[in-house]
Amino acid sequence: MNLILFGPPAAGKGTQAKKLVAERGFIQLSTGDMLRAARSSGSELGKRVAAIMDSGALVSDEIVIALIEEQLDNNPMAAGFIFDGFPRTIPQAEALDKSLASRGQKVDLVIRLKVDENALIARVTKRFEDEGRADDNPEAFKKRLVAYNSQTAPLVQVYAGQGKLAEIDGMAKVETVSDAIADTLDNAKSKKA
Ligand code: AMP
Repeated sequence: MNLILFGPPAAGKGTQAKKLVAERGFIQLSTGDMLRAARSSGSELGKRVAAIMDSGALVSDEIVIALIEEQLDNNPMAAGFIFDGFPRTIPQAEALDKSLASRGQKVDLVIRLKVDENALIARVTKRFEDEGRADDNPEAFKKRLVAYNSQTAPLVQVYAGQGKLAEIDGMAKVETVSDAIADTLDNAKSKKA
């Protein structure tokens, strides 16, 4: 089972992905985490993407697709992947389909966390105070939301058209959201069986 956790930045995708890793043995593939790791390791890639990330813009499709390909290659026996923060553009979604197909797999389910943008801004302001991530500052966060709405949100229609989209209220409590995700996954599994 390969799952995309979909939603704007700070919708809670990372939190929910980590719970699914702990509870169901998925492998989480977060391009944001991979890029942050590249930055803290001081690699060439990290240096190339730092300013773009801090501004709130998207890094190139080519870079994130290569990161995902590398992880798919490194985990040939995985029971399932959760894609968190990827794909974020139509070309990324097309590349993911191709990549999975070449491994005899596909995207099985897309779970969209639906959230209110004003509430997100409040959530991120708090996260900025607690964690100090440069791209959580209000100006950069606004840019991340613009990038989401213009480049990423169109994917909702693509996956809805493929009959793969499930929508969940991402404004509910963390536990309530996890329960809803668990139900959606169990339903999808029983339909598959
Ligand atoms: P995230 O933690 O997923 O919100 O990602 C943090 C930042 O990393 C984003 O604002 C982008 O600059 C970059 N990034 C992460 N994933 C992607 C992606 N799939 N495509 C392009 N840029 C990405």
